Amino acid sequence: PEFYAAYSARGKLVFPHGFDAATKALIDKYPEDEKGIKRFIKLIAGIRKEGMNQPRSALVRKLIYPLMPLLYPNLVEADRHTVGSWLDKYISNENAKVDLVAHLVYWGDDPYTLSMFYYGLPFSGFIENGGHFIKGGSQQLSDHLAAYIEKQGGTVLLGKKAEKIITGNGQVTGVIFRDYFNKALDPVTIYCDNVVANCAIPVVPALLDEPYASSLKEKIVDKTNSCSLLCMYLGFNTDVEKFGVKHYSNVIEGEDVKSLKDVKPNHQGDWSKRRFIFVDYAKVNSQLAPPDKSEGVICTVDYLNDWENLNEADYKAKKEEVAQILLKRLERQFSGIRDSIEYYEVSTSKTIQRYTSNPSGSVYGYAQNKEQTGNKRFRNNFLIPNLYFASAWAFPGGGFEGSITGGFLAALQMNKDKIWSVADDEPFVDQRIVPLLERKPIDENTLELRFEKPAVLQAQKGKYACLNLMSPKVTELDLPYRWLPIASSTKEESIRFHIPRDASSFVKSCDLMDKGDEAIIYGPTG
Ligand SMILES: Cc1cc2nc3c(=O)[nH]c(=O)nc-3n(C[C@H](O)[C@H](O)[C@H](O)COP(=O)(O)OP(=O)(O)OC[C@H]3O[C@@H](n4cnc5c(N)ncnc54)[C@H](O)[C@@H]3O)c2cc1C
Repeated sequence: PEFYAAYSARGKLVFPHGFDAATKALIDKYPEDEKGIKRFIKLIAGIRKEGMNQPRSALVRKLIYPLMPLLYPNLVEADRHTVGSWLDKYISNENAKVDLVAHLVYWGDDPYTLSMFYYGLPFSGFIENGGHFIKGGSQQLSDHLAAYIEKQGGTVLLGKKAEKIITGNGQVTGVIFRDYFNKALDPVTIYCDNVVANCAIPVVPALLDEPYASSLKEKIVDKTNSCSLLCMYLGFNTDVEKFGVKHYSNVIEGEDVKSLKDVKPNHQGDWSKRRFIFVDYAKVNSQLAPPDKSEGVICTVDYLNDWENLNEADYKAKKEEVAQILLKRLERQFSGIRDSIEYYEVSTSKTIQRYTSNPSGSVYGYAQNKEQTGNKRFRNNFLIPNLYFASAWAFPGGGFEGSITGGFLAALQMNKDKIWSVADDEPFVDQRIVPLLERKPIDENTLELRFEKPAVLQAQKGKYACLNLMSPKVTELDLPYRWLPIASSTKEESIRFHIPRDASSFVKSCDLMDKGDEAIIYGPTG
């Protein structure tokens, strides 16, 4: 559908796809800024075109530097500006400026620090090519990438934490990792020719020996992290179009945002006024909900310091308080929608930090301000010749497209550097993978699955483990794993789980498992 719809006291703006349609919609609403709007569209289209055609070689970039204004006029113009400084210079109507940054949260939190280059590049991509959604959600993307690695003979290990990057003679020589859940297990060392640090750059110094740890710390000490996000996931018992939700991405403006200068303070301000985006996934073929139901997400800028130093009860209470405020505001915009909510859950910056180890729950790595964007970002093996950096924190930046591009560039660089020795093609044996020994009903509501006990697991009854089916036969609208209490005692030679029956694909897959089918068991925990 369209790019986005912005709702505010100044009226609704529907931002369509296509440069011509977008220009027309903006000029129709803000005719006094026709010249500035045309310049904006021309600039962002130019940024994308020129940005994609920049030479990758640092040497070539250096050589052509004096010719930059001629060869890359839009990049040079964008490089001089933040989004705020550019809009202040060329657009007069504050409402137009605020409408143009309605989707700001997807790149940063402050128009006056966000690089115009970094904003313009994806923004024009959205206008020109439309947005794209991964059917079934982003887990499908991770699954696809993992399957590709495995097809090429690689191994993907989840539930392991890298503790050390081993160095010697100016090179990286291996990685030491540990089981994330089972702390009793010994650490494992893998020797290798190259390491890709695809975690947050600020966590890497703790993995390195001196002098690299201090050297990296010194390089990053002045860097600023990007903001985080608060997301509220909503399950509706119907299609919410009937409540007036006409668009895919709906920006609900903060009441106190009257000019561009109000945007950042609004992001840091009260939840009753903070601008948010409500996405209705039923508007695209998202395959996230059954046909008679739908899913939506409310998303706002979030900061870790709003959630730190709260005990568990206070944290939960605050999440619930914020949830109720956001639901009230959603209801105000789309009357009747609240009663159709069957399920909701809130994730905060603290959630993101906990599950991804990104400091401050940062979702885009280092903030894309003028000083930290484009060629000023860390590239590849800047620290040690065979240690490559590929993540939202490195070049070109965050988001799926940015992170995947970063990984691709690291792979290209590795192919060029060719620091390869003869491959050790012995696959890593993951001892957490075990075959099913028996499947039997306990009663009409419960199914029991009995597996060979992983050699590495002390299966204490009452503790929890994550049962992840390796080849689930039914996958519709579900993930192939559950955290379950261990039903067997430590003395038993196998491990048993009792699975409560429901209509989910996971339970259907359990029901269809044959003796010998494999599962991976993470844990124990709890
Ligand atoms: C709620 C939300 C919605 C988003 N929506 C979109 C969207 O619609 N489109 C889009 O383009 N982008 C979106 N993003 C942003 C996007 O997800 C990120 O920018 C991107 O995933 C960053 O990728 P990455 O590979 O750099 O790091 P991450 O995805 O953060 O992955 C880093 C991984 O490293 C692991 N790790 C860290 N330390 C260690 C260690 N010591 N040992 C082992 N593993 C470790 C972490 O567990 C994690 O799995 C969204 C982000 C969030 C939080």
